[in-house]
Amino acid sequence: MSAPRRRIGMFGGAFDPPHNGHVALARIAVEQLRLDELHIFPTGHAWHKARALSDGPLRVAMSELAFAGVPRVVLDTREVHRAGPTYTVDTLRELRQQSPDAQLLLIIGADQAETLHTWKDSADIARLAILSIAARARPVSDAPPADISNLPPGFYQPINLPPIVVSSTEIRARVAAGLPIEHLVPPAVARYIAEHHLYQLPPSP
Ligand code: ATP
Repeated sequence: MSAPRRRIGMFGGAFDPPHNGHVALARIAVEQLRLDELHIFPTGHAWHKARALSDGPLRVAMSELAFAGVPRVVLDTREVHRAGPTYTVDTLRELRQQSPDAQLLLIIGADQAETLHTWKDSADIARLAILSIAARARPVSDAPPADISNLPPGFYQPINLPPIVVSSTEIRARVAAGLPIEHLVPPAVARYIAEHHLYQLPPSP
């Protein structure tokens, strides 16, 4: 009998900063998707984020702190070091070349899944990786929950994540307003933000 294929998860994000929603999703993905490895990718210059991101090394350092306790995690910094915009499909192609026999699973929140069809070479993304999508709760005052019901059945694998209402945007805004964030990010990330005086200016419109 042939050995089971290794299952490698890919979880990318700006992680500006990483928060408890990201960490919970990473932990649950490793367990539910039975991953052998979970690669965490802080993104480089993400083409779809209107805002300028914090410097790559800061986001890498915070990601190291945030995901340190998650089993099977590998922090993968290649997108931060890549010149030009970051495209998920390029990273997936590299992973495929490095691990030709592995099963690749792309882990994304439902808000990202909604826009997946606009990503570069989205059909290739779906061929290269099993899409694994977690529901994402939104604050009551915000937009309705992401709608992924238009994705064809069998097209993706759901991740059952209890709703965690938190976003990096909210954390940046709270820091700028002098409000506590200790309930929203891992303690080491809260300390790092304070020590490096991050996010102290109000977000630009
Ligand atoms: P921002 O508020 O700056 O847009 P964010 O909180 O959405 O940031 P990202 O780094 O853009 O964080 O997200 C990385 C990935 O994690 C995306 O796939 C996103 O859908 C998912 N994600 C982020 N927060 C949550 C959450 N609370 N629950 C489920 N998925 C989440």
